[in-house]
Amino acid sequence: MPEEKSYHMTPSEFRRLGHAAIDWVADYYERVESLPVLSRVRPGDIRATLPARPPERGEPFEAVLKDLSELILPGITHWQSPNFFAYFPANASGPAILGDLISSGFGVQGMLWSTSPACTELETHVLDWMAEMLDLPQRFRSTGSGGGAIQDSASSAALCALIAARERATGLASNERGCDGRLTAYTSSQAHSSIEKGAKVAGVGRANLRLIDVDATLAMRPEQLAQQIDEDRRAGHIPFFAAATIGTTSSNGIDPIRAIGRICREQGLWLHVDGAMAGTAALCPEFRHLQDGLELADSYCFNPHKWMFTNFDCDCFYVADRKALIQALSILPEYLRNQATESGAVIDYRDWQIPLGRRFRALKLWLVIRHYGVEGLRYHVRRHVDLAQEFARWVQAAPRFELAVKPPLNLVCFRHRGGDDLNQALMDRLNGSGDLFLTHTRLQDRLTLRMCVGQTQTERRHVERAWRRICEVADDLERG
Ligand SMILES: *Cc1c(COP(=O)(O)O)cnc(C)c1O
Repeated sequence: MPEEKSYHMTPSEFRRLGHAAIDWVADYYERVESLPVLSRVRPGDIRATLPARPPERGEPFEAVLKDLSELILPGITHWQSPNFFAYFPANASGPAILGDLISSGFGVQGMLWSTSPACTELETHVLDWMAEMLDLPQRFRSTGSGGGAIQDSASSAALCALIAARERATGLASNERGCDGRLTAYTSSQAHSSIEKGAKVAGVGRANLRLIDVDATLAMRPEQLAQQIDEDRRAGHIPFFAAATIGTTSSNGIDPIRAIGRICREQGLWLHVDGAMAGTAALCPEFRHLQDGLELADSYCFNPHKWMFTNFDCDCFYVADRKALIQALSILPEYLRNQATESGAVIDYRDWQIPLGRRFRALKLWLVIRHYGVEGLRYHVRRHVDLAQEFARWVQAAPRFELAVKPPLNLVCFRHRGGDDLNQALMDRLNGSGDLFLTHTRLQDRLTLRMCVGQTQTERRHVERAWRRICEVADDLERG
C-alpha cells in the first residue's frame, strides 16, 4: 500500500528543524545586546518587503529562517536586550521559552479539568506555590475558600474582578438584566488604564469610575476615597469596587493597601489589588511591607510576564472567595457537561476567566520556578533593585539632574533640570542611537524620564553605560 499523501512536517523533520529554530533563538540571545534596542523602521517598511500573495506551494523552513533574519529582525524592538529600560520589562528566560514550547507541543485546551487534568492541577499547584513564595494571605490559596488562576494579562484580571464584584453587589442581577447604572467604582488617578477599560467593558461606565487624588508620593489618599464613597452614597449611587495599585505604571507609586482595605471592608466594597510589576518584589521578605494589608483584599494580581522571567503571557490572579468569581462567570452548555464537573471535585478554569479556551501556561511558570528556585529568583530581583537604586544615587549626585520621586524598587523617575524640551530631546537622541531604550511619563506636570531595570540579561555594566550615554547626550544638548 502506498502511503497517503501528506504535506505535514514529519516528527523527524520537526526534530531537525526544531534544533535549527532553537539554534536561531540561542544565536539571537548571544547577539541581542549589540542590536539597536528600538526598531528603526518606518510605518509600512516591513510589509513592503513581504510578497503580496501567499505562497501556493510550501517553502523550505530554511527560507523562513533567512527571512526572519533579514526581513523581520529589523522590525523588532528588542525587549530582551539588556539595554531595554523602557515601560516595564517583559522579561523572558530559557526555562520559560522551553516551557512554552512544550506547552505548544502538547497543544491541549484546558478549559475543563476533564479536557486535560494535568493542565488544571499543575496550575492550581503552582499558583499555591507562588502564593507561598510571595507570602500572600492564606485566603488566596486553593486550600481555603480562594485560589488562583493564570490570566493572559493584568487587564483581564481586573475585568474578572470587576465582574465578580458587580455580581456580588447586585446578587447576580447584572448577569440577568444588565448593569445597574448606579454602581460606582474607585481607583487612583495614577492607576493603570486597564481599570478604566475594565469599567467600560464590564458595563459600569467610565463616568462611574472615580479617580481618587494622590499624595506627594503618588499614592492614593484613603481619606479622599472615604469621602468620595460617602458623597456617592448620598447621591443615590451604589459604591461596589475599588482598585488599589502596588507599583503604578507611571511612577511605581504604592497605594496604602491596609488603609484602603479598611475603608472597603467598612463600606462593603470589593477591593482588587494590582501588583502587575512590583508584586514580584515580594519574593524578597524585605520588600513585603509594600503589600501590607493585602489580607483585606478580595482579589490580587501580579505578572510573572513582567519581572519574573516568564514569557508573556502569564498573569497570576487570586481571589479570596472563588465562589463569587465562579458564580459570576460560569456557564454550562450541554456539550460541556461531564461527570468530573458534576461531581464538584474538580476546578474548571473556564469559569475563572472571560474566554472558554485556555493554554497550558502553568508549564512555563513551573519550569521557571524549578530552574531558578526561590533563591535564584530572589537573587535577580534584588540585583535589579540594587542596580536601579545605584542609578538613582548617580542621578542625585549630578546637579543638573533630579529625581522626580524616591524610587521604591527598580523604576527610577528622573529628569534633567533644563525643562521639558531638553528632556524630550535627550530621550529622542538616546532612543535614536539604539544604545538603550527608555520612555517617559508626566510627573509634577513635567516631562519625566523612566529608567526601569528588569531585563533578564541586564548587568551593572549596562546600567553604567546607560548613565554614561545619558550624560554624554546631555553634554551635547547643553552645548546646543
Ligand atoms: C503593566 C501593568 C498593567 C497591565 O498589564 P497587562 O498584563 O499588559 O494587562 C496593569 N497594571 C499595572 C500596574 C501595570 O504596570
